[in-house]
Amino acid sequence: MLRAPRGTKDILPPESHKWAYLESLLRRLSKLYNFEEIRTPIFEYTELFSRTVGESTDIVRKEMYTFQDKGGRDLTLRPEGTAPVARAFLERGLAQGALPKKLFYLGPMFRYEKPQAGRYREFVQYGVEILGSPSAYSDVEVILLAVRIAEELGLTGTVLYINTIGCPKCRQAHREDFVKHISSRAKQLCKDCLERLETNPMRILDCKNPACREAVADVPLVKDYLCDDCQEHWDTLQQLLESLGLEYTVDPTLVRGLDYYTKTVFELKWPPLGAQDAIIGGGRYDGLIEELGGKPCPGVGFAVGVERLLLAAEKGQKPLNPDVSIDCFVVFPGGGDRRLAQAGFKLVNDLRGSGLSSDFDPLGRSMKAQMKHADRLNARYVAILGEAEFEQGLVTIRSMEHGWQKQVSAGQVLDFMKEEVSGGSK
Ligand SMILES: [Zn+2]
Ligand SMILES: [Zn+2]
Repeated sequence: MLRAPRGTKDILPPESHKWAYLESLLRRLSKLYNFEEIRTPIFEYTELFSRTVGESTDIVRKEMYTFQDKGGRDLTLRPEGTAPVARAFLERGLAQGALPKKLFYLGPMFRYEKPQAGRYREFVQYGVEILGSPSAYSDVEVILLAVRIAEELGLTGTVLYINTIGCPKCRQAHREDFVKHISSRAKQLCKDCLERLETNPMRILDCKNPACREAVADVPLVKDYLCDDCQEHWDTLQQLLESLGLEYTVDPTLVRGLDYYTKTVFELKWPPLGAQDAIIGGGRYDGLIEELGGKPCPGVGFAVGVERLLLAAEKGQKPLNPDVSIDCFVVFPGGGDRRLAQAGFKLVNDLRGSGLSSDFDPLGRSMKAQMKHADRLNARYVAILGEAEFEQGLVTIRSMEHGWQKQVSAGQVLDFMKEEVSGGSK
C-alpha cells in the first residue's frame, strides 16, 4: 500500500471542517483590518530564501526542500511567506502604487524538520505584511490583529512580549560591547553559539541551552544603545499600547538575527500550550526590500502556523465547533417504480436549487437503512417519498431535531422546507 510521505498529513472530515472554519475566520479578520490577499508561487528561486532568511539560519542550512528542475534551475519550496511577498511587491511594481500596501497570505510552507507532535514538513501559515509604512502605528496595528485572532479563538490569558532590536546604525554601537561581553564567557557557550559568535552573535540570545542563557544574563542590551529614530519609534510603540490598555512585557532576549530586521519584534504567547507556547510572532523589517534590490521601503508583519492555532483553539474557551449538518436528506425507494425514484431524485435537486444542502442514497438500500444514513450525515430534516406518499402527491417531512412529522403536498414542499430551515418551528 502506498503511504503519504513522512511529515505530511491528510486533513479528513470532520477535521477539515475545522480548517475551513479557522481559515474563514482568518479571512474575515483580514478584511476587518483591511488586509488584501496575495497568492505567491509554492516554489521560488533558492536565492530568494538564502538571501532573505539568511545563510546562517537553520532554515537555509538544513530545512529547505531545494531541487533542480529539468532546466537546471535551483528552486526551493517556500519555507516561509514574507520573502515571496516582498519579492512580488517589488517585481510587480506595488512599491509604485498606493502605500502602505497591506497584504495577507494563507497557504502551505515546507521545511525538512524532524516530524513531531503538531509539527509537519508541509504546514500551513497565515501572515500579514504592511509594506511602505515606517510608522509605529502600523506595528501596533499588526499586534492588535494578532491579539484579536487569539481572542476570537477563545485563548484567554495570552501574553504579549515586545522588544526593539534597533537598526544597523544603533546595533553597530551595541555589537562591540555585546561581543566583548560574550567573548569573556565563551567557555560556557555551546558549539552552535560559538559558531554564532563569529557569524551572527545576536542569535546567541535565542539559544535555549541553560549555560548559554546564563552567559547572556547581564549582557548589554540594544535598547540602551538606540539612535534617536529608533528610540522615538520604541517610545511611540509603548505609549500607543498603553493608551489602548494593552498589557505587554518587554523581553530583551527576543531578537532576530538578520540585518534587515529592525526596531520592533513581538511574540504572542499562550501559556496553556506548554514549552512551545508562542502562537504568533512578528516584527519590523525595514531593510528587506533593499536587500532584494529595491529602493528602501519599510515593512512590518507577523506569521502564524495554522496547525498551532488549531491545537490552541482545541484547548481554549471556544473549541472549534463548525456546523457539519445538512439541511435535508431525501428518502425514497431505489428499486420498483422508476417514476418514484426519479421524483425523489428531482426533489433532492430542487432542494439544492433552493439553496438547501441536501443528499440522498444512491445505493438503493432499505428505507430503514436510509434513515440511519440520514442520521449519520447529521441531516436536520428528512423528506420521505414512499409509495403511499407518491400516489397521494405528498411528502412526509420529519424534523430530526424536534422529532415531529408532517405531510406536505408535493407542490409546497420547497416553500415549506425553505421556511423551516431558515426559521425552524418546534
Ligand atoms: Zn537605530
Ligand atoms: Zn548555545
